[in-house]
Amino acid sequence: MDATEKALVLKVGCFREADCWVRLFTASRGIFNAFAFGGSRSRRRFVGCLDPLSLVLFSIGSDRRGTYSVLNEGSLLHNFSGIRANSAITGMAANCVRFVEAVEIDPSDAAPVYHLLLKTLYMLDAGSGSPDVVPWFFRARLAFAMGHDPDFENCGTCGRPVGGGQGWLFGVEQGQVLCPACHSAGKPLDGLARPVSPGVLRALEWIRVSEPDDWARVAMDREVRRQGSQLVELFVAYHLGLSWDNGMYKKV
Ligand SMILES: [Zn+2]
Repeated sequence: MDATEKALVLKVGCFREADCWVRLFTASRGIFNAFAFGGSRSRRRFVGCLDPLSLVLFSIGSDRRGTYSVLNEGSLLHNFSGIRANSAITGMAANCVRFVEAVEIDPSDAAPVYHLLLKTLYMLDAGSGSPDVVPWFFRARLAFAMGHDPDFENCGTCGRPVGGGQGWLFGVEQGQVLCPACHSAGKPLDGLARPVSPGVLRALEWIRVSEPDDWARVAMDREVRRQGSQLVELFVAYHLGLSWDNGMYKKV
């Protein structure tokens, strides 16, 4: 049976004379491929729908045997022209999309990631967002949305709220903080741990509860940004198995 669903077009390729394959991301199915037979010729069924970064309401069916998905028709909802118009913004959007593709999201986890990506694209489309923060904020929020949700506010061992001073550690594996008292008492933090300042922990907590719209207005101290992004990259590499290397995401 055909279903009608909002989908973000990620990639489009054409074959034979007029047929296309389309890589899509939806809240209920995650990322999948579908065919748009006659897609590159049909002006009526797919007007403006078969370009990457188009948000489209598609009618999606399947072939007779049910082995692959077929797009019957689409109506364009939004084409993110503000992202396309500026190469720096296009680069940030592409970085976020590539990360989502690299993570290999299970359909059961797709909805929060889909909504996070769309909110990020709408924020970028409005001309907001800095390359200094958007890509790693996005990676952090995606990891948290997939259930790897750290506690940046309290010591994971004694429960003491994060305050001032030095000697705080963050355990990447457990996503927990260890306070200076527990640390000097020799309480263990298994695996990879890094020293972290209370200011960086507060910044990470802000990112954890923020919405992409908030990222447009953030002003973050350079050193906080450097430490925070390093911790996020370690956290993402450990929990999602991915790191950014030479313009690509690689499995680690
Ligand atoms: Zn403690």
